[in-house]
Amino acid sequence: MGKALDEKLEPSLQTVIQRNPGETEFHQAVREVFESLGPVLAKYPEFGEHKVIERICEPERQVIFRVPWVDDKGQVQINRGFRVQFNSVLGPYKGGIRFHPSVYLGVVKFLGFEQIFKNALTGLPIGGAKGGSDFDPKGRSDSEIMRFCQSFMTELWRHLGEYIDVPAGDIGVGAREIGYLFGQYKRVTNRYESAVFTGKGLDWGGARARKEATGYGVAFFLNEMLKVRSEGLEGKTCSVSGSGNVAIYAIEKIHQLGGKVVACSDSDGFVHDKNGIDLKLLQQVKEIERRRIKAYADRSDASYISGGSIWSIPCDVAVPCATQNELNGNDAKMLINNGCSAVAEGANMPTTPDGIRAFLAAGVAFGPGKAANAGGVATSALEMQQNASRDSWTFEYTESKLSAIMEGIHNRCHRTAEEFGTPGNYINGANIAGFTKVARAMVALGLI
Ligand code: GLU
Repeated sequence: MGKALDEKLEPSLQTVIQRNPGETEFHQAVREVFESLGPVLAKYPEFGEHKVIERICEPERQVIFRVPWVDDKGQVQINRGFRVQFNSVLGPYKGGIRFHPSVYLGVVKFLGFEQIFKNALTGLPIGGAKGGSDFDPKGRSDSEIMRFCQSFMTELWRHLGEYIDVPAGDIGVGAREIGYLFGQYKRVTNRYESAVFTGKGLDWGGARARKEATGYGVAFFLNEMLKVRSEGLEGKTCSVSGSGNVAIYAIEKIHQLGGKVVACSDSDGFVHDKNGIDLKLLQQVKEIERRRIKAYADRSDASYISGGSIWSIPCDVAVPCATQNELNGNDAKMLINNGCSAVAEGANMPTTPDGIRAFLAAGVAFGPGKAANAGGVATSALEMQQNASRDSWTFEYTESKLSAIMEGIHNRCHRTAEEFGTPGNYINGANIAGFTKVARAMVALGLI
């Protein structure tokens, strides 16, 4: 259990739990935001009068659909598709699509809920949504992936549009899947509507630096947190969990900023490379060959540990970039005992409530995902800008905008935490700054 909630918020949390039975990740995400909001409701009584809390926890629209497809053996397969359109007071619904066997309504809702505040923090005009399927892409052929994506989009297209809802990738959905999804959308609607998807390939409307943006953004955010403590990434040893798109580009930027990443992982195990992760080899194994992380160790001097926790490796800085609840209270204690002084979340909600409590109690600088990993969706909004103006920016220009956006998010969270009497608490800063912006707009737009 977390800390006691404000007396006005406890009944609202109980309502969320009752109305969304069994959706534990969603309950966790809501509780975590509520823990920051007591002083906000006291300061802005109009949020209470307009029932902003009750409204913001109820998605504007939820779509659940059947996705039938035929595998390479000719067998019929049935999956479940989701899109939760959570909040659109700041702009069209925006958020990724996740293909992973763990996906169910509770996961999509937690992600969609987080996305509302993350997107608000970017300062760009985007609402919050998330989607996905319990489809497992592991081991599937290209043509199976294509058939699945086509079937998924044959249902979902009617709920999308550049002024309605703009998906992107997430776990299990990269440029290949976005291509098949966008292709089917284009075919069914007979419209070349570039800005209906972000994370597109560079040849067909994608933005330079979008692929790198989430990982780069995490490294920028981390650097800002360290700067406040008169430190930097220079010379710091780092562990980055995961080995997908977020992890790979977090590693690249941490190296460019002078840090050394010595460990990364997948769901089977982790590699420890004392010389620093060889990014080219990691990209060869993961991006080109789509293999497991063990193949990295087979081709280098790194050691491979099957199972176990990557957080047992000593490091100055930890960057969880794999998935929700991957870093628990015990992991946090190991990291703290080994001298870790900063954590930036590249994944969404990777640290459990116990883990967060341990970090905050030990004075570790802690950047929550909805702030630290907002660079991905921010650059998606930049992709939408380029599509809308039929323009295409250089890598350097886009990266400089991303870097300025991350500095802005960091400063907003830092300032807000101070203003509300919890200096250095980026969780409070992110929750309060993100929520307040959305809540003000919800009051302004009336009871919708
Ligand atoms: N899935 C990413 C996230 O968690 C990106 C979403 C987007 O670009 O719309 O923020």
